[in-house]
Amino acid sequence: MLTTDLPTLPPGLDSWDQPMRQALAEAHSAAQAGEVPVGAVLLGPDGAVLARAANAPIANGDPTAHAEILAMRQAARRLGNYRLTGCTLVVTLEPCLMCLGAMVHARIGALVYGAHDPKSGAVASRLDAASLDFVNHRFPALGGVLAQECGDVLRRFFRARRQAATPPPAPPGSHGSESA
Ligand SMILES: [Zn+2]
Repeated sequence: MLTTDLPTLPPGLDSWDQPMRQALAEAHSAAQAGEVPVGAVLLGPDGAVLARAANAPIANGDPTAHAEILAMRQAARRLGNYRLTGCTLVVTLEPCLMCLGAMVHARIGALVYGAHDPKSGAVASRLDAASLDFVNHRFPALGGVLAQECGDVLRRFFRARRQAATPPPAPPGSHGSESA
């Protein structure tokens, strides 16, 4: 599914950091909305931003509302074409299996991602996407762009959520559920 080539930087861009920072801004807005902070930007072949989206499965009541899917939908509507040939998807986290499948259906031009996802990353971490010989579309991918910042957004979000979920300590003398 993936080629060994690296994505080609569109004209007008000096590095992938610039679109990744836009994707990071989307991730921050997802966090503020209580969604897992992942953001995506979709660039046209000329480097123009066709779409940007924040992860929103909770707000949308839609398990498929990952940032990548929302960005691809927006861009396809805008282009009037379900094929996103020559477009580059820039996303803060390594895509999951669903998003990888959607990229193949969209005939995406290239993928650039930030943090690796050791739990469910389907590009390199949990699946060697390059070895899927039944997939009829191949594209270059690059991971690790602003990986630290992209990962920090997620780590902060989950740390805050864990702290919020920790129950207050039981008062002295009471029987907690664990010791009862
Ligand atoms: Zn996904």
